[in-house]
Amino acid sequence: MLKIFDEIPRNLLNVLFPVFCNGCSNLLLKNENVICTKCLHNLPLTHHHTITETEIDKAFYGLVPFEFAASFLYFTKKGISQNLIHNLKYKNRQEIGTFLGNLYADELKNLEIFQEIDFIIPVPLHTKRFHERGYNQVTTFCKAIEKNLTIPMLEDVLLKTKNLKSVTDKSKESRLENNKNVFSIENQGKIEGKHVLIIDDVFTTGATIEACAKEILKIKNTKISILTMAYSQS
Ligand SMILES: [Zn+2]
Repeated sequence: MLKIFDEIPRNLLNVLFPVFCNGCSNLLLKNENVICTKCLHNLPLTHHHTITETEIDKAFYGLVPFEFAASFLYFTKKGISQNLIHNLKYKNRQEIGTFLGNLYADELKNLEIFQEIDFIIPVPLHTKRFHERGYNQVTTFCKAIEKNLTIPMLEDVLLKTKNLKSVTDKSKESRLENNKNVFSIENQGKIEGKHVLIIDDVFTTGATIEACAKEILKIKNTKISILTMAYSQS
């Protein structure tokens, strides 16, 4: 009897303040969090960390030396991962980053390479963009990786010094990110001789991460690895 009374307020709360799945917009059940069970089972996982030569490996050979590269999800247009990234990036649903970071950290925790990584560096936003959005969309994901894999995050080393307009055209992105000094390094002593994990939201052409990697690799004896929430195949 007592249990029934216990349940009523929660169900009532669900009616008054419904919470929706960030993957498919269906109503979440009270035991579901961030995404529904169906979306959780249908996440388009890349399994990159179990593959010898991933799409990112192929894209980066010859461009920059790196130790390890992986994305958690395939970025599927109009699919769950696009909805998740959109809600995280534009709707202030920062809990999505925490949720994905926790899931991914669980997959990665037994990989030896993560014993060798010294710091996490998120791909930064330009100050102007940061103030417009109010947050960097990769921060909560990075914090979840930081916490679960006990690798400290540095947010005062890599800075975005040029504010580019949001670019969807791949060739344009590539040209802009590669040819201009978009990123710069401060406090370089912190990463001298260190292995740095660069984390971004979506790997599209790789131009953004390449630009970040090239700046970091200018610092003496640094090594880099790469992690992103999603990989876009288009
Ligand atoms: Zn769903």
